[in-house]
Amino acid sequence: MARVHGCYVIKEALELKKKFGSTARVLAGGTDLLVHLKKKIITTDHIISLQRIESLTRITAHPQPSHPWRECMQCKPGRRFPARPAHL
Ligand SMILES: Cc1cc2nc3c(=O)[nH]c(=O)nc-3n(C[C@H](O)[C@H](O)[C@H](O)COP(=O)(O)OP(=O)(O)OC[C@H]3O[C@@H](n4cnc5c(N)ncnc54)[C@H](O)[C@@H]3O)c2cc1C
Repeated sequence: MARVHGCYVIKEALELKKKFGSTARVLAGGTDLLVHLKKKIITTDHIISLQRIESLTRITAHPQPSHPWRECMQCKPGRRFPARPAHL
């Protein structure tokens, strides 16, 4: 039986994945993972659940599509963008 690890921040999930490596599976929605576990298509020792990580509960569009947000230090992943970010 797999042990389920609930995480509240991305860093915690990454640390658990690093610690358990290939013996751990990440649970996002569970659509595939739970079906595969129930049907015994896959087995795993650890399940790292992302469901309590608040910053992963939504998808937002950047208000300025041409802004290089991937390289921008102020546009952090999971951030809720205001109508116009102060640094733009
Ligand atoms: C009945 C059914 C119908 C479906 N219909 C559609 C459809 O119409 N269109 C479509 O596109 N897909 C469909 N799918 C496929 C499914 O929705 C996708 O595979 C989707 O990616 C599952 O997302 P999830 O968040 O539930 O992932 P999970 O089931 O939680 O995980 C799926 C896999 O991805 C891994 N994983 C999860 N999160 C991460 C992460 N952050 N980093 C690395 N690995 C990760 C898990 O360990 C697991 O191996 C269907 C699946 C089922 C069972």
